[in-house]
Amino acid sequence: MANGKVMDVDRLTAVDVHTHVEHEGESTQTDEATRKYFGAGVTPGRQAMADYYRSRNMACVIFTVDERLSGRPQVSNDSVLAFAAENSDIMLPFISVDPTRGPQGISEAKRLLATGQVRGFKLHPPTQQFFPNDRAIYPFYRTIEEAGLPVIFHTGHSGIGTGMPGGGGVRLKYGNPMYIDDVAVDFPDLKIIMAHPSFPWQDEAISICLHKRNVYIDLSGWSPKYFAPNLIQYGNSLLRNKLLFGSDYPLITPDRWLADFEQAPFKDEVRPLILKQNAAKLLGLQSKAASG
Ligand SMILES: [Zn+2]
Repeated sequence: MANGKVMDVDRLTAVDVHTHVEHEGESTQTDEATRKYFGAGVTPGRQAMADYYRSRNMACVIFTVDERLSGRPQVSNDSVLAFAAENSDIMLPFISVDPTRGPQGISEAKRLLATGQVRGFKLHPPTQQFFPNDRAIYPFYRTIEEAGLPVIFHTGHSGIGTGMPGGGGVRLKYGNPMYIDDVAVDFPDLKIIMAHPSFPWQDEAISICLHKRNVYIDLSGWSPKYFAPNLIQYGNSLLRNKLLFGSDYPLITPDRWLADFEQAPFKDEVRPLILKQNAAKLLGLQSKAASG
């Protein structure tokens, strides 16, 4: 019904830059362990997700993660694009291609880009098992940069694998944001979003975001109740145009995140920047007032 509907940017209350389209089959062990870590309930279906965001006049960036490590069933990029197309008034699709796939990964990215629907990329170094500054990945970044699209990197601790034997095979070192600093130097036109408050490397993330004008931080995956004081301090000052609201739906819902954000000591004039304006600018969302 909403197919082909244009996003009314002025009407949006917020833009959630970090949500997951989950598979709709049976839960795996990794799903159970991850939900336990986040204290989350059962994953709602796709229609429920669309209804949730539409009823709140909230836009969301949606994606899957192309990885084989966790053993979770894959959600295809094609199904993410189709889901977003049906809900184009509220959804912005990012694609995820494991960048360690080499030339095959690049052709897959190009095939998806050719649809004209892709709004960005999502990478997950801990489950895709690569250091972001690995030179072997650079041709992949060039493809993203040429497309003029932003890329989200997972950073910091991983909920996936937490509490499982051997952490489910997830090596946390790949989540250190400092490796992204090299990418920001070598691809100065690539817009990079470091996902999550980067625990246990919060200071590194703040420093990179402060130093590199093409790097942003999304605040997903953590309740604002637990944000480090320096993250809030920089968010209120030097990084006020760099922090982005993200939930990590369905593991953390926007309702819960926003209730805790309300209580966190952010300045009133900074809140609309974090909730909507910074993301609107970064994602090139056109307000009617601006486009005439
Ligand atoms: Zn996430």
